[in-house]
Amino acid sequence: MARHLITSAIPYINGIKHLGNLIGSQLPADLYARYLRQRGHEVLFLCATDEHGTPAELAAAKAGKPVAEYCAEMHTVQSQIADGFRLSFDHFGRSSSPQNHKLTQAFAGRLAEVGLIKEVIEEQVYSVADGRFLPDRYIEGTCPNCGFESARGDQCDNCTKQLDPTDLINPHSTISGATELEVRETKHLYLRQSELKDDLAAWIDSKKDWPILTTSIAKKWLNDGDGLQDRGITRDLDWGIPVKQGDQTWPGMEGKVFYVWFDAPIEYIACAQEWEDAGKGTGWERWWRTDKGADDVTYTQFMGKDNVPFHTLSFPATILGSQEPWKLVDYIKSFNYLNYDGGQFSTSRGRGVFMDQALEILPPDYWRWWLLSHAPESSDAEFTWETFQTDVNKDLADVLGNFVSRITKFCRSKFSEAVPDGGEYGPAEEKLIADLTTRIRAYEKHMDAIEIRKAASELRAIWVLGNEYLQANAPWTTFKTDPDTAAMQVRLALNLIRIYAVLSAAFIPDASADLLAAMQTEDDSWPDDVQAALTALPAGHVFTVPDNQFRKITDEEREDWAERFAGKRD
Ligand SMILES: [Zn+2]
Repeated sequence: MARHLITSAIPYINGIKHLGNLIGSQLPADLYARYLRQRGHEVLFLCATDEHGTPAELAAAKAGKPVAEYCAEMHTVQSQIADGFRLSFDHFGRSSSPQNHKLTQAFAGRLAEVGLIKEVIEEQVYSVADGRFLPDRYIEGTCPNCGFESARGDQCDNCTKQLDPTDLINPHSTISGATELEVRETKHLYLRQSELKDDLAAWIDSKKDWPILTTSIAKKWLNDGDGLQDRGITRDLDWGIPVKQGDQTWPGMEGKVFYVWFDAPIEYIACAQEWEDAGKGTGWERWWRTDKGADDVTYTQFMGKDNVPFHTLSFPATILGSQEPWKLVDYIKSFNYLNYDGGQFSTSRGRGVFMDQALEILPPDYWRWWLLSHAPESSDAEFTWETFQTDVNKDLADVLGNFVSRITKFCRSKFSEAVPDGGEYGPAEEKLIADLTTRIRAYEKHMDAIEIRKAASELRAIWVLGNEYLQANAPWTTFKTDPDTAAMQVRLALNLIRIYAVLSAAFIPDASADLLAAMQTEDDSWPDDVQAALTALPAGHVFTVPDNQFRKITDEEREDWAERFAGKRD
């Protein structure tokens, strides 16, 4: 038994996430956490909402609510949707928690103490009418390069030219439309990441087992151009963690907050404190402090590829820079993007299926199975309604669902709703046990390595073995001439249902629980020994025929949904 700390990239607070976000971090993290718990390991699985920054302020303003109230409400909404997808977080925290305030201020204070913080005077655009500094992306104007009228302060979306807000012709505030903008001086804190470049490079080089997607992105940021840059960790905003040096005020930094990307990853640690403070467990430090027991913890992070630079460089710079005994990540599992039906998911244009909508039309297992079995691991993947319909109908209804339905109904009609007695294994059963053993060992290997598509494919093949066995040995025919042998075949197949429930639990937890309930067993032990596992339900053990677990998606539904989610949501 080992100890595993697992975190999913924390979703931003300003709205409900789409299925591409779900498969990019939370769902695969949940799969891994569930699997490790099943294998007997001690797991702490954490996620939270990322609540600071201008987008939260703007979303709250749009909703007509104070930002703290808006964030509290959206946290509840995201938490309920996570439950709907059966995401088994040990705690779903908030980056705005008091614990994270304190810890973020402590990290900043410590980094200043060891000389890794510098103060920089910057020039920034100030909107007199709005009474605030404006982040680059909240300034728009005409592009000096191509004449596009809605170029942002950081980039022109039309010609892609990188811009400074002062390059824009006729700039205005996107908050109020105000044109009375002036450049003012403001002081900010920078983390001297460049000082940590060698430490970070050595640490990344030591990670020989990381996916190429992860290390290549990290090395690009580390080495390209002028290399790793010092990074601003404060902002002129109201909503955020006030800049303090530990619990002391920071002279000259009054009224400023930490930049959201400085405090958000620290929430991974604060979330463990929240978990303990919520009474869900004890000893958060044994997960995070290497001087308090975290040396034997394996820490795995899950995230989309856009988050890799922050997790391989910025957050490790905070931890390494502190020179304190915090746990560093051991393995980063990063994902490419899931695209939607020939384009991209778009939150702003409402293109694609959002998490709340998905649960309105189908139970979570359908989505979990499809998304995980198409996880964008080695390249981008694409959701289309055709493949969704085809794969769900085939894998879940035709293969798994059909196997269960066929054998339980046959047993009820020819024997009873109890596991039948009689008969002995022959060569067909020995071959099946050998094949199952090979495939289950391969499945474990892929799950241990977090090779999700390979694991899904192996699980599907394990389901198929059961159907092929029934097809080839046809107990309904055997029964006519040799009821004893038919009883043995049925007994084996009924036991296989329990094994399927156990093996499938991390992918489709509801179906798994339903299968165990139908088989009237609480024995969810892992099939380390397949032959023994096939005797877990002995002759005479009573079961019930389960309801059809997976219904098929019709062509009409597919067409309706394709139209409904093409992009209208505001
Ligand atoms: Zn342009």
